[in-house]
Formats: sequence, C-alpha cells, structure tokens
Amino acid sequence: MNKNTFDAIVIGSGISGGWAAKELCEGGLRTLVLERGRDVKHQEDYPTAMKNPWDFTHHGKNPDPSENSIVKKCYAFDESTSHFFVKDKEHPYVQEKPFDWIRGYQVGGKSLIWARQTQRWSSFEFSSPKRDGYAVEWPINYQDIEPYYSHVEKFVGISGNKDGLKGLPDGEFLPPWELNCVEKEIQRKVKEKYQNRHVIIGRCAHLTEPKKIHLEQGRAQCQARHLCYRGCPYGAYFSSNSSTLPWAAKTGKLTLRPNSVVESILYDEKKQKAIGVRVIDAISQEVIEFKAKIIFVNASCLNTNLILLNSKSNRFPTGLSNDSGILGHYISFHNYRGNASASIEGFEESYYRGRRPTSAFIPSFRNVEKRDSDFLGGYMMAFSASRGGWNRGVSSLSFGEDYKNSVAQPGPWHIFMMMQGENIPIWENHVRLHPEKKDAWGIPQLITSVAYTDNDEKMQLDFQKQAHEILDLAGAKNIRTWDTHQNPGLDIHEMGGVRMGLDPKTSLLNKHNQLHACKNVFVTDGASMTSVGNQNPSLTFMALTARAAQFAISELKKLNLIWIGALLSLFS
Ligand SMILES: Cc1cc2nc3c(=O)[nH]c(=O)nc-3n(C[C@H](O)[C@H](O)[C@H](O)COP(=O)(O)OP(=O)(O)OC[C@H]3O[C@@H](n4cnc5c(N)ncnc54)[C@H](O)[C@@H]3O)c2cc1C
Repeated sequence: MNKNTFDAIVIGSGISGGWAAKELCEGGLRTLVLERGRDVKHQEDYPTAMKNPWDFTHHGKNPDPSENSIVKKCYAFDESTSHFFVKDKEHPYVQEKPFDWIRGYQVGGKSLIWARQTQRWSSFEFSSPKRDGYAVEWPINYQDIEPYYSHVEKFVGISGNKDGLKGLPDGEFLPPWELNCVEKEIQRKVKEKYQNRHVIIGRCAHLTEPKKIHLEQGRAQCQARHLCYRGCPYGAYFSSNSSTLPWAAKTGKLTLRPNSVVESILYDEKKQKAIGVRVIDAISQEVIEFKAKIIFVNASCLNTNLILLNSKSNRFPTGLSNDSGILGHYISFHNYRGNASASIEGFEESYYRGRRPTSAFIPSFRNVEKRDSDFLGGYMMAFSASRGGWNRGVSSLSFGEDYKNSVAQPGPWHIFMMMQGENIPIWENHVRLHPEKKDAWGIPQLITSVAYTDNDEKMQLDFQKQAHEILDLAGAKNIRTWDTHQNPGLDIHEMGGVRMGLDPKTSLLNKHNQLHACKNVFVTDGASMTSVGNQNPSLTFMALTARAAQFAISELKKLNLIWIGALLSLFS
C-alpha cells in the first residue's frame, strides 16, 4: 500500500475537522488529517495557561499590534492568546470591501480560542428561508439533525438549563451555570411583561459535572477561571485538541499531519470522482499528493471556499463541482453591530463567585414562528451583569493603596448587552481568487467582497430600541445603546459559499453535505450553511459533520462511493 494512500482525508483539524476525524476513525477508516498550521498538543502547548497577569511583559494586554492589524480587533486577542491567532502579515488577503477575517492556523484551529456558546437551531431556522423567501430552501429540517445534536452534545459536554422553549430546543445538558442576582431580576421583569421573551443562562461547552465519557477523554471539571482562550489544561472546555483528535488517535486509525497546506483537491475525469489532494509542506515547500476514497473539507468557511475555487480541472474550470457558478457566493455572517450598556442600583449587598464562562441570553423573539418585523431573520441578545469590570484587583494596573482599594471595593453593578443577528445571504456577498496575488506557498490570495445590507441596519436599530426597553424595565440607569459599525467578519461566524440545497442549479451540496457533482467530497464546516440563523453556529457544524461522516461510512460499506479499482484496498 502506498504510504500516501488512506481511506479518508480530512482537511483542517479545527472544530468540524476534529469531528470528522473522530467519526471516520471510529467507523474504521484509516484517516489522514491535514492541517496547515503547527502541532498544538493538549496541555503541553498551552504556554500561558497558568500564568498570572504580572508574569506577562505587557500585563497581558495587546502586544505590538503592527503585525496584526486585523486580529488585534478581536476581543480574545491579547498577549496571553496571540500565539493561537494568525499573524495577518504572513497570511494576506484582499479586502475589496472591509472584512475582518479572524483565523487560527494550528492543530485545533479556532477550537482553542472560541467562546464555546452552543445553542441548537430550532425548526424555525431551517424553515424560515423558504417561508420568508430568502436564500434557498434547506434540504434538511430539525428532525434530520436532532439525533446528531444529541450525539455531539453528549460527547462534547454542554452545560445548560432545560428551558422548554420552542425557538431554542433543549439538548443533552450538564448542570447549568447560574444567573447572578441582577440577571435574575431582569429575568423576572422580562417574564412579567413579555410572553415571547425569555432570559436564560447561556448553554456552553464546559464540563460543569463531567460524565464517564468526558473522564475517558482525560477531561476534568471547569474551574471557572475564564482563562479559556489560552487553552485549558483541565480540558474543561471542548477543543479538538482535548477531545476529538485524541479520541480519534486512540482508534489507531488516525494520521495527523501538521504543516500541510492543502492547495487543491484532485479530480479524476475518468472516474468522475476526487482522488486525493495536493499539499504544500508549509516548512519545506515540498509538493506532495495524498490519495483517498473520500475527502472531508473542514478548513473553516472561507478557506474551504478557497480550496474548492482553486481545485480546477477540465471538467470544472471554475472550481470543483461549480456547475452552477455560485461557488464562493452567498457568504453570510452574524450581525454584531448593536450594543448596550447600563448601571443598576440596589444590589450592593450581593456578589458572585468565580468567573462564569458564559452569559445570559434572550433567544430570538423576532420572525420566529412567523414573519413579524420589517426586516428578515432573527437576533438573540447576550448580556451579563457584573461588578467593577474586568480591570479590578490583580487585573488592574494599580498598586499600593489604589490596588488595595480596588480589591476591597467590588464597585457598582454594570450591565453589558449585545446582539447576534442573522445576516441574509445575497449573491453579491462573495469571495473569489485573486488573478495574480499569491500567498507564501504560491496559492492565490482570497478576495473578500462582503458587506452589510439595509436589512442589517433595520435589525440593529430594532435591537437598540428593544435593549433600551428591557434595561429600562429592569430599573437600570445610564442606559446607552449604540451601533459598533464593526466590519463584517469580526463576528467570527462567517458561513456559506458552498451552500446545501435541493437543486444543483442553486446550491453546491446535497442533504448529506456531498458536492452535487463530486459525491465523494463532503463539505461540513460553515461553508455548507444555506442560511445562518441567529445562534452561535459551531454546534450545528459539529452535528452536520457527524451526520455526514456516518452517512459516508455507510455509503462506503454499500460500495457507493468507490470505484472498482479501490474495492480490494477497502477490504485489505
Ligand atoms: C474569539 C472567537 C470566539 C468564538 N466563539 C464562538 C462561540 O461562542 N460559539 C460558536 O459556535 N462559535 C464561536 N466561534 C467560531 C468558531 O470558532 C468557528 O465557527 C469554528 O471554529 C469553525 O470550525 P471549523 O472546523 O470550520 O474551523 P476552524 O476551527 O477554524 O478549523 C479550520 C482548520 O483548518 C485549517 N486550514 C485552513 N486552511 C487549510 C488548508 N489550506 N490546508 C490545511 N488546513 C487548513 C486551519 O489552520 C484550522 O486549523 C468563535 C471564534 C472566535 C475566533
């Protein structure tokens, strides 16, 4: 057997790639995971995880931002986490319209630096594009994905409360984090006034009470340190590094190859299938080809688009499976433009313990069961109440008397609120390859041409109005609402470009995440999303990946995805 031949190749080792690896290896397939970045070993490679603020040269604040003009805008980027973000200078792209592309190129991808918020979609997110006439009809519904949400949640470990809401289905939860006294007051007031608005504690991928399956992964209980973005030595939040990749490795079927930049997918016209991928070794620049029966593309939305656009052949001159010409179009994201803040009095005798790694949420109450606004799509509100802000005590820059005072005085209560809104996919929002500009590996640079529309504007104005109303209702003072005017992309939830759909003329993927015109290639990251809902998306990427991987395994068993020449090797 050629050492470069496997049963399956997975491109990317982040949140979705880790899930593809786990499922395919458990299904008995010899799986090669190709990752463009360096290796990051769980625990060993979290150099800042146990550091205190005074251990950092810049007290943990942003290091020299000149190398990182884009990622420095991300709230999670600072001196303690910068090693898990790309250096913008080393990975240029062309912003035809401003788009902040936040990337983490390493084993584990952005699973190391995500905020771990994990809510299911409801049936309404799957049905509203058809109902309200945007994007295209989803080829699956909530019932199709429900068992895979459960499958993923049990393994990942999601803390949450069973809230019994139609618009935000409950999942397989570990015990929830607790709302603090101010958040509970807001919850009470909201419940009194509105029938369709609910304050809940955020559901998140943290082990509040590890089960056997989590202990078997070598993971332990969350310590509420909220230093998660540095990598968690306890494995208390879910990352590919602490969970799916080591689990896949345990099967003996996994080969993980870091520093492997996938340049393109190789298409064989005779076989009418993809036969493998071309890789450029990130360090030696050597060009290597790897072969496999099936390929999972999990390079994160925009890089997945890039790889497919760059996979040209006589049969597909504009990119793999791009018969419809829509590859790279309908890029979508989440609208984070609405923010609000306030102070509140009357709770000075109350405090809270630990650094809770999640916040309170008000699930979407717009356009849920029917269209009821002058804009399309829904938005959720995330908020938290806290005392004194993050710069208190050891995190403050004070010393001596000022320091002692800052520790002794918890300070007043503040509330911060933000929106996460559904952006509507449109043809104009797209990515394409630059005809001349190349990256350090000779691969065309990506052009991003993505912008807000009037719909986003109307939605964020509505958020500002509703946020003000809710904070006022709760008795808050100094209420301020504003538009952040941030660029698309900084929401870090880019999706689309390789969307799922029923019709090959208007979509790239079928209901199993197979490319319509190249069935042994599966795209299961954010690129596959037909629309974007209002929930944080990664739980849905994981569930789609597990579903597609299990389908691929069953198809291989039925010999549906292989050509005669490969039959022998499957059973060898
Ligand atoms: C600060 C922050 C907070 C976030 N919070 C949340 C949250 O609370 N909830 C939520 O749902 N989502 C959140 N996200 C988004 C979440 O991280 C992404 O949705 C998720 O990581 C996407 O998974 P993925 O597998 O598609 O991509 P990634 O996790 O980014 O993994 C992609 C991998 O592919 C590799 N790769 C790329 N190109 C190539 C190539 N050509 N060849 C080989 N390998 C390649 C990359 O190096 C990377 O390792 C957050 C993101 C950030 C940055």
